[in-house]
Formats: sequence, C-alpha cells, structure tokens
Amino acid sequence: MSDSPRQLPMLRVSAWESVPQLVHGFCGRRGGNSGAAFAEFNLSFAVGDDPDAVRQNWRCLGQTVGGLRFMGMRQRHSDTCVRVDGDGAPPEADALITAVPGLALCILTADCVPLLLVAPDRRVVAAVHAGWRGTLLGIARQAVHAVRHHFGVPPAALHAALGPSIGACCYQVDREIAADIERRWGAMPEAVTQDGSKRRLDLRLINRALLVGVGVPPAQIVSVGPCTRCAGDAYFSYRAACASDPTGRTGRQLSFIGWNR
Ligand SMILES: [Zn+2]
Repeated sequence: MSDSPRQLPMLRVSAWESVPQLVHGFCGRRGGNSGAAFAEFNLSFAVGDDPDAVRQNWRCLGQTVGGLRFMGMRQRHSDTCVRVDGDGAPPEADALITAVPGLALCILTADCVPLLLVAPDRRVVAAVHAGWRGTLLGIARQAVHAVRHHFGVPPAALHAALGPSIGACCYQVDREIAADIERRWGAMPEAVTQDGSKRRLDLRLINRALLVGVGVPPAQIVSVGPCTRCAGDAYFSYRAACASDPTGRTGRQLSFIGWNR
C-alpha cells in the first residue's frame, strides 16, 4: 500500500481528447489503496471504507490528473442541478455545472449512469448522476436546461458521454418502475424490455433518448465502457455486491470533467 503516483485505469472519450484544456475521465475500481469490499480505488467516504485509504486514493488521483480542484455533490437521486464556482461545501444535488477553470466536477457511482456534458466552444461542463430515480425525474434534461439557463448554451452545442453503468443484461427491475418511466417519457421498446413478470432497463439508452428529446444531436452522444455488473472485476457494482452480501457493501468509482487553467 502506498500513495505514490501510479497508472490509474481510466476511460476517456477519444473525440474529446482534442478539445483544448478539457480534462475528463471515467475511473474504475482498480489501482487504489482500499481493501476488501472496497478494493481498490474507492473514492467515497460514505460507504464504510477506511477514511485513510480513501484519502490516499484521492491523493493518488490528484497526482495522476494534477492541477484540478475536485468538486463533488451529496447525491440524492433527485433532479436538482446546481451551478458551482468552487466555493463552499459540496451541494445536495445530482448534477453540477460550471465554467470555472481548474474545477473538476465529480460523480460517484456503482451501477448508476455517470453522464458528462461539455460545450467545447463555450467552455461549460456538467456532471450528472442518473440512476433509475434520477432518470424518471429527468435529471439529464434538467442539466441541459440549466446549462442553457445559466450560460445561454443551446442543447445543439452540447456533447455528452454516458459512462460505465449497469446494462440491460443485468438490470432487472419491478414492472412498476418501468411503467412509471414509460408513463413519464413514453414507450421505449429498445430500452425497456419484458423479462417474465419483471422488466429490464437500459438506463444509458433511456438517458440518451432524454438528451435527444431536448435537442442534443444524436451524433454528439457517446456511450463509454462496459456494464458495471458484467465487468465487476474492473468496476464497482452495487448489484454485483448484493449477490454475495445482502447489504451491498462496495465502493464507488469516480467520473469527472473540468477545464484546466
Ligand atoms: Zn451486464
């Protein structure tokens, strides 16, 4: 165990690599200092992991990425989107937006969808946490509306990336949840499928449809990384953890986006 700099496995959107000053990444669970259910790269202080190990993981991230202040949020499965400028404590929210250089907006997940948004020419970014509750509430749309409201950026100027999260292959839910989503957002035969008396949700497809529905061009929306439960060796997955431990104790992986100074 050490907090010396090391190679952290991290996925990026290849098309975004050429955007000047843009910094982003989707971390997994490998490469950190946490043990047991939280092995290895847990970045959440709220799941029961040893705080010293979590602090070491944050230091390790800071050494790898460098020069950024990380701003998270107290995620509540809500549709609350907050503009941040780097001052104050992390807000209660499920989406953050900023145009402040040097600030990286963070999402912590273990199956929920981490969604990153960027308006490259306007230098605005957003980070969104979308599980089924946030998806039902339309958190992705709220973030698009907030970017327009606060910065005058039209949805057509936004690029979006949906990160590693549970896939339809592994995401069975009660049919009432699927019915609520279809009542709110319309039928989505590819994203909501029948499985006996249950339903399967493709949260990334649903959120993609919500983004397209408010004017984000389909060609500017990408999906990055595998199903977190299928790839449970590389990603924290709440559902995978529940299969061996009813309390579902596991870590949270970080996704982040911001502008270098
Ligand atoms: Zn799967």
